[in-house]
Amino acid sequence: MYDVAIIGAGVVVAMIARTLSEYSLNICVLEKENDVAMGATKANSAIVHAGFDAECGTLKAKLNVQGFKMMEQITKELDVSCEDITKKQGFRLRKR
Ligand SMILES: Cc1cc2nc3c(=O)[nH]c(=O)nc-3n(C[C@H](O)[C@H](O)[C@H](O)COP(=O)(O)OP(=O)(O)OC[C@H]3O[C@@H](n4cnc5c(N)ncnc54)[C@H](O)[C@@H]3O)c2cc1C
Repeated sequence: MYDVAIIGAGVVVAMIARTLSEYSLNICVLEKENDVAMGATKANSAIVHAGFDAECGTLKAKLNVQGFKMMEQITKELDVSCEDITKKQGFRLRKR
C-alpha cells in the first residue's frame, strides 16, 4: 500500500519523489515507458535558466532565480557535473 503515487518519471516527478522521500512515506512512481526520463527530460538542452529572459515579476522569473540558486547544492548532493558558464555567456549553468 502506498501513501503517494506520482505519475510520470520525468525530472519534475523525480524531484517531487526525492523531496517526499525525506518523509516517512511509501512512494510509488508510475511510468508508462520502459525507463525513467523518456519524455521532455531526455531531450532538453540541459541549460539551467537563471531568470534573465523571463518577464520580470512573473512566477516563471521567480522560480528561475530560485531554482538557479539551488543548483550548486543539488548537483553536489546528486553528484552531477555542471559547468558554470555564467562568465562566458551571462547567466547559465550547463550540464556537461
Ligand atoms: C527540445 C527541448 C529543449 C529543452 N531545453 C531545456 C533547457 O535547456 N532547460 C530547461 O530547463 N528546460 C528545457 N526544456 C524543457 C524541459 O525539458 C521540460 O520542462 C521538462 O523536462 C519537463 O519535465 P517533466 O518531468 O514535467 O516532463 P517529462 O520529462 O516529459 O516527463 C513526463 C513523464 O510522464 C510520462 N507519462 C506521461 N503520461 C503518462 C501516463 N499516463 N502514465 C505514466 N506515465 C506517463 C512520460 O512518459 C514521461 O516520462 C526543453 C524542452 C524541449 C522539448
